[in-house]
Amino acid sequence: MRVLLFGKKGQVGVEIEKKFSDFGSLIALDRCSIDFCGDLAELKKIDETISQVKPTCIINAAAFTSVDDAEKERELAMRINAEAVEVMARRAKQLNALLVYYSTDYIFDGTGEHYRDEYAPPAPINAYGKSKLMGEKHILASDCHHLIFRTSWVHSATGRNFIKTIIRLAKQNTKLSVVADQIGSPTSAALIGDVTRKCVEMCLADHEKGGIYNLTSLGETNWLEYARLIVNVANKLGVSMKLSPDVIRGISSAQHKAAAARPLNSRLSTAKLERNFGIKLPVWNDDVTDTVSNLLSSREQI
Ligand code: NDP
Repeated sequence: MRVLLFGKKGQVGVEIEKKFSDFGSLIALDRCSIDFCGDLAELKKIDETISQVKPTCIINAAAFTSVDDAEKERELAMRINAEAVEVMARRAKQLNALLVYYSTDYIFDGTGEHYRDEYAPPAPINAYGKSKLMGEKHILASDCHHLIFRTSWVHSATGRNFIKTIIRLAKQNTKLSVVADQIGSPTSAALIGDVTRKCVEMCLADHEKGGIYNLTSLGETNWLEYARLIVNVANKLGVSMKLSPDVIRGISSAQHKAAAARPLNSRLSTAKLERNFGIKLPVWNDDVTDTVSNLLSSREQI
């Protein structure tokens, strides 16, 4: 069993490297790797890497993830999030390898208040969402054995994310405004790593289990309530803050100026994942609490 991981330094990549460390042989790359090319902007070299490694399973945790920057760097976002994935998918098909790809709630337009399942029609409203959806389409067109996990609002004790930003701002400021009208589910990279490991094992044993799956924590919240929980938990764990959770003010997406539009309704139904793989998912606030306490007990810079 040989696993080839792209993007080992991202939030999800770090967890995948941990969870697959005892899974046959693991070759984990980032964009600066020397022995094999791990830079997704280098399409030909990525193809060569996969041909040389001949993996049983390719896990792609690398992506152009800056949603606002993708608006002005559309070509680069498309190259990394879609064209590189097309190369991986074609090679996976040829090698009969399993390809794991992480997609996003941002492939949807966010209308309505319902939970979207895997059959809901995508309609991305920003460049990042369009590039990620194109990645999905290339995988499906290649007919390779695949697992596409659509996740949302990823957090972890490493890397850049909302939890670190809020703790940093709450230590420095007496006032804070956070968007309150986008609804979704924060999901830890640790959970994504655990679920990926279990699903890859089951999929390699039974090809029929491949496909598209929503993968998030259970329940729903908005960024304001999420920020309040972070400050509350960090406070209880002894971090000295300049503001209390109830002082954080809610604003609308329209008031929060950002280059890219975001869907208002990011609710994803995880029933298919739970049913097909027998997975029990945590509720979002327990998952966030774990990440905040892992972050604060680590040496990670905030
Ligand atoms: P991160 O931004 O933490 O990690 C992405 C990684 O990709 C970084 O290490 C980055 O490296 C790397 N990368 C960027 N460009 C290239 C390139 N040209 N070649 C090789 N590596 C590159 O993202 P997450 O771990 O949070 O995301 C994992 C997956 O989940 C992605 O597919 C993302 O689209 C998806 N997802 C993420 C969500 C989120 O909230 N973060 C929500 C929904 C889905 P560097 O730091 O050097 O740029």
